[in-house]
Amino acid sequence: MTDPYAWLEQSLATIHRADWYRSVQPINGRSGATVVLAGQEVINFASNDYLGLAGDERLIAAATAAIAEFGTGSTGSRLLSGHRELHRELESAIAFTKQTEDALVFSSGYLANLGAITALVGKRDLILSDQYNHSSLKSGAILSGAAVVEYPHCDLAVLKTQLSQQRQNYRRCLILTDTVFSMDGDLCPLPALLDLADEFNCMLLVDEAHATGVLGKTGAGCVEHFGCTGKQLIQVGTLSKALGSLGGYVAGSSALIDFLQNRAPTWIYTTGLSPADTAAALAAIKIVQQEPQHRAQLWGNVHYLKNLLQQLPNIKLLPSESPILCFQLPSATDALKVGKQLRDAGIFAPAIRPPTVPTSRIRISLMATHEAAHIEKLVTVLKDIC
Ligand SMILES: *Cc1c(COP(=O)(O)O)cnc(C)c1O
Repeated sequence: MTDPYAWLEQSLATIHRADWYRSVQPINGRSGATVVLAGQEVINFASNDYLGLAGDERLIAAATAAIAEFGTGSTGSRLLSGHRELHRELESAIAFTKQTEDALVFSSGYLANLGAITALVGKRDLILSDQYNHSSLKSGAILSGAAVVEYPHCDLAVLKTQLSQQRQNYRRCLILTDTVFSMDGDLCPLPALLDLADEFNCMLLVDEAHATGVLGKTGAGCVEHFGCTGKQLIQVGTLSKALGSLGGYVAGSSALIDFLQNRAPTWIYTTGLSPADTAAALAAIKIVQQEPQHRAQLWGNVHYLKNLLQQLPNIKLLPSESPILCFQLPSATDALKVGKQLRDAGIFAPAIRPPTVPTSRIRISLMATHEAAHIEKLVTVLKDIC
């Protein structure tokens, strides 16, 4: 008898040999600028909690109050028993921040992308997708059944050629892009993408996961940063990064949101966002709207670290216009080694390796709550290692 599961061990061995193996590490206590990681206190440069809101007392109080009032679970899908006024309040707050007609909250950013993409396009349609897009955009594209063509990262000349050659063969066309690329930290050329979408009669879906709360004058994201507020497009994002909660959203026209409520399977057939997550995200949106000082702190930290790193000739940062700063290493093995050395010196900045990214790197993400001393320690340690 052969064992139909034996291939699992063999596959794992291959993953180990390539130094691609990954596993979880526990963090104790509340997450913040420093954390206790597997028993060791480290400075945290691995968090998406850009504004430090995941540990904010006001979010904790809002979540706790929501649990006391509504209980822990929302008990059903939104269209059946899972809808609460709180969900609508959150959706209105997101739409207000984004200056869109409406918004719809999903159980995660990943599910928001899967749901939106599969609802918007199908077999007769074309998707054009940046090669560096997040996994959720790529998975959504495949799941939709549309023809999927990737364009080289931010290369709009190639995108334009692809559109000229292929657009007319399809019914609808959807262009997909991250606004802040999550493993690089650079931005998509949004105004030019909007022009191309216009020229070729395409929909444009942008993923603001790392931009919401971070970029733009009011923290509305990359769309605001580029002065594109009010343009026709589909904005997806997450409640689980700068907003410190859990969940995702789509923001856009009333017709879009109405349509998604009737056609997005990952919204229709899943349980509504929990009261605690919903209330925490709502509290976070209000803080983003009312307290720009957190964003100012965050960007102050980004500029401080960039300036210090410019004095280290061995560290070549990838181009970035966000709080995500990466430097490349020749191999996964080197990245793991540097990651380990950083960790031993009390710095948590992970090695990001294939298959997540094409080339191995150390990824540093900054928070508003990092102190100057945290950033200086990082630079001192990097100077020693590299
Ligand atoms: C994190 C992330 C997501 C997924 O969001 P979740 O709410 O964590 O599921 C989607 N897109 C991008 C670009 C991301 O970085």
